[in-house]
Amino acid sequence: MTQQLDTLLVTGSTLHDYEKKTGAVNIPIYASSTFDQSSFDSFGPFDYSRSGNPTRDALEKTIARLENGHRGFAFSSGIAAITATLLTLNAGDHLVITNEVYGGTYRFVTTLLPKYGISHSFADFTDLAAVEAAIQPNTVVLYAETPANPLLGITDIRGVVALAQKYHLKTFVDNTFMTPLYQQPLALGVDVVLHSATKFLGGHSEVIAGLAITKDEEMSKAIYAIQNGMGAILSPHDSFSVIQGIKTLRARLDFSSRNAQKIAEFLHAHEDVVDVYYPGLPCHIGYAIHQSQSTSAGAVLSFTLPTKQFTQLVVEHMTIPIFAVSLGGVESILSYPPTMSHAAIPLAERQARGITDGLLRLSVGLENVDDLIADLSQALAIAATTTANMNTTAQ
Ligand SMILES: *Cc1c(COP(=O)(O)O)cnc(C)c1O
Repeated sequence: MTQQLDTLLVTGSTLHDYEKKTGAVNIPIYASSTFDQSSFDSFGPFDYSRSGNPTRDALEKTIARLENGHRGFAFSSGIAAITATLLTLNAGDHLVITNEVYGGTYRFVTTLLPKYGISHSFADFTDLAAVEAAIQPNTVVLYAETPANPLLGITDIRGVVALAQKYHLKTFVDNTFMTPLYQQPLALGVDVVLHSATKFLGGHSEVIAGLAITKDEEMSKAIYAIQNGMGAILSPHDSFSVIQGIKTLRARLDFSSRNAQKIAEFLHAHEDVVDVYYPGLPCHIGYAIHQSQSTSAGAVLSFTLPTKQFTQLVVEHMTIPIFAVSLGGVESILSYPPTMSHAAIPLAERQARGITDGLLRLSVGLENVDDLIADLSQALAIAATTTANMNTTAQ
């Protein structure tokens, strides 16, 4: 019997064989670096925990089932999953990568990949013609993030896959904002799906973790070689945390996403808000494409305010969200991409990409939505009055 995704979130990690003896409902944390071998010439399923660990294995099998992939791999961070996947490329290879990309991915691709002889071009992935124009004879991968960070730009996954097929390339997609619950890139023909499990999958701001899920055996072999050969594995304790987070994903993410939609609509109607970026608003560029490839707009939105000063006042007067990097926690998280998640991108580049001085990103948590809207409303009112008074005094 095939199970719906909701059910798999819960059963995905309980269908393991490890704990038949005790019937423990949760996978144990196998805090063991090494494993006693049954005899001189026959070995058990595990030998050394860098190469494989039962708790990590449960998480890897769970995420592979959820993404409907060939194999899952758990890493010590999202960036470790992303770098391991990109290091499957060889010296001389080239990749085309979205210019709206997570700051840490930008840093890796621009400062470290060149040391391995792997070159890149950035392209606007909301424009398939621009992606095609950036393909070179030595291009091997198209790398997308959708919805992207921090302006929630939408990439047409089917369109990118069609381009990749035309030029015999692979496609890697960072699916952090959607999770397998809302978007299934492998089903659309993507080769590797990537997650920062630090975010919604973990869900409680307690663990840094990353996942890579492959479509076929060839990619699985290549990524396993890097995971085992470079060693950025997820610990058994952290693997356990992510498994526990995944079980409540449906309840958390649906609740947060519904509230994000209401907050986006509130901000969109607010006179002091310049722009709102949220794929659940019909005015969002790429809205129709997002609808065609995802089942929800998710829990992250961004918006721009008139000035840096205005933005600072809003941040200082909000009382409910924490002001921090990261997203996807049970607590709402407000962040300022120019100096936080996207600080690695040089100023001129940032501005060219629309990451302006008035930009805020909000990851909606599990608080009451009316409280969040009231909090935003009072902070926006204080910012409006204060900046108006400052301008009057200055004249
Ligand atoms: C946070 C994040 C990453 C990096 O993950 P870490 O777990 O912080 O290493 C990559 N991609 C996206 C979209 C992210 O939000």
